[in-house]
Amino acid sequence: MIDLSTYEVWFLTGSQHLYGPETLEQVAAHSTEIAGVLNDADAIPVKVVYKPVLTTPDEIHNICLEANSTPECVGVITWMHTFSPAKNWIAGLSALQKPMAHLHTQYNRDIPWADIDMDFMNLNQAAHGDREFGFMVSRLRKSRKVVVGHWSEADVQQRLGVWARVACAWADSQGARLARFGDNMRSVSVTEGDKVEALTRLGYQVYGYGVGDLVAVIDQVSNSDLDALIEEYEDSYTMSDDLRKGGARHQSVRDAAKIELGIRSFLEDGNFKAYTNTFENLHGMKQLPGIASQRLMADGYGFGAEGDWKTSALLRAMKVMSSGLDGGTSFMEDYTYHLDPDNQQVLGAHMLEICPTIASGKPSLEVHPLGIGGKEDPARLVFNTPAGPAINASLVDMGNRFRLIVNDVDVVDAENEMPNLPVARALWLPKPNFKDGLAGWIYAGGAHHTGFSQAIDAEYMADYADIAGLEYLHITDGTTMHNLKNEIRWNDMFYALSNGF
Ligand code: MN
Repeated sequence: MIDLSTYEVWFLTGSQHLYGPETLEQVAAHSTEIAGVLNDADAIPVKVVYKPVLTTPDEIHNICLEANSTPECVGVITWMHTFSPAKNWIAGLSALQKPMAHLHTQYNRDIPWADIDMDFMNLNQAAHGDREFGFMVSRLRKSRKVVVGHWSEADVQQRLGVWARVACAWADSQGARLARFGDNMRSVSVTEGDKVEALTRLGYQVYGYGVGDLVAVIDQVSNSDLDALIEEYEDSYTMSDDLRKGGARHQSVRDAAKIELGIRSFLEDGNFKAYTNTFENLHGMKQLPGIASQRLMADGYGFGAEGDWKTSALLRAMKVMSSGLDGGTSFMEDYTYHLDPDNQQVLGAHMLEICPTIASGKPSLEVHPLGIGGKEDPARLVFNTPAGPAINASLVDMGNRFRLIVNDVDVVDAENEMPNLPVARALWLPKPNFKDGLAGWIYAGGAHHTGFSQAIDAEYMADYADIAGLEYLHITDGTTMHNLKNEIRWNDMFYALSNGF
C-alpha cells in the first residue's frame, strides 16, 4: 500500500551569469551527473530529478512555485556549485512550501594538488557559495536539512535518503484521512489533543464514526472472502487444532477475520491511511479487534489504541519512512517493568495490537479472554521481538504546540518464557540508562503509547520534526536530566515567543 518510487525530489543547482556560458555548461554537466548518481543510489528510494541550473531570481521563484504545485515532488535538494548571490533566492525560498535538503558538496572530491589553479578554484566554489545560500535560509528562518560531504559518499546518500523518506511521509500526511471509531478511552489525557491544530500543522484530518457505522460494514462481509482469509491465517500462523477450520473454537477466529475484513473494507472505501478505536466503544462487535489491527498495521495502516489518533498518525508516518527497510514498525506501549537493580528492563506490549512486522519468528494465532471490555475472547497474534537497536517515539500536545519525544532503546532477548502472557511483546533497555531514560521521558511528558521501530532511527524523527515544525526532544546516550530539564524550560520560552498569537 506504500510505494515510495512514485515520489520524486528535485535537484536544484544555483549559479549566476558572472562566469560565462562555458562555465555554466560545465556546472550543468556536473549537476546532471550528480543528480543521476543520487537517482541511482539504493539509499534514496525516490526519483532524483535534475532541473536546469538556476541563475536568476525569476528562475528560482518559478521552480519553487512549480515544486509546490507538483504532487509527486516531495522536496528539493539545493546545491550551489558556484557562487549564487542569495538575494536571488529570497522570493523563491519565501514561496517554497516543500521540504528542503541543502547538499553541501562539491563536484571534485579531491584537491588536485599538482594542478590546482584559479580555474579550478572558480569552478569548485561550494565552500563559499553554499555559505552564502545557508545564510539566507537561516536569515529567512526556514528549516532544512544540511548534508555535508562528497556526493559519492555512502553516508551522504544515506542521510539524503533519510530526508527523502521523511519528505515522503510528510507528503503522505498532507490531506490524509484518519478514521476514529468511537471516542477516547474515558478521561485519558495524553491521547487527547487539538485536532484543528493537527490538521493545520500536520496536514491530516480525523473523521469520527459511531461504531455502528463500522458494524454495518462488518455485517456485509461475504462468506467467500471470509473463507479465503481463514485460509491465509492457517497458512501464515501457528494455530492449534481447535482454532482451525472444524475445530471447537474456530468460530472465534472466524469472528475476528470478519472484523478484519470489515475494517479493511471501511478503510479502503473511505481512502483512510490510519485509524483508531477503543475497547470502550464496541457496541455491536463480538470482539475487540486484535489480529485485525495487527495485520492492518503490517499492511502500512497507522493505528493507535484507545482513541489515540495522534499515535495512529505518527505510526503511519513512520510506516511510510520505513517502507522497504529491514526491521518492523509498530504501535507500542510501555507496559510493565523488571526492576532488578542488576538487570532493569521495560516490557513493551499492548492488550492485543502489536504489529507482526516486529515478530522474531512465525507468530502464533491464539484466542484468550481479555479481562476488560466485556466482549468475547479476541483472536491475536503472539510473538517476541528480536534483539537490536530501536526507537520509541511519542507525540504529545503541550497546549501551545506539539512535542515529539524520541528515546533510543536496545531491545534484548527475553531470558525467560512467559507462558501465561498471550500477547506480542518486546523487552528493552532505554538509553542513556534505565533510570535516566525513564525519568527523562516522564519529565518530557512522553505518553505510554508510542510508535516503535527497528527500521528507522532518531535521525528520521528529527528530520520529521524539522519539516513539521514540531518541538523535538531526544533522549539518548549523553542525555542528562540537568540538560534535558533546561532544554524543556528553554523550549517553553522559545515557543511562547515564536508562536505569538
Ligand atoms: Mn493502551
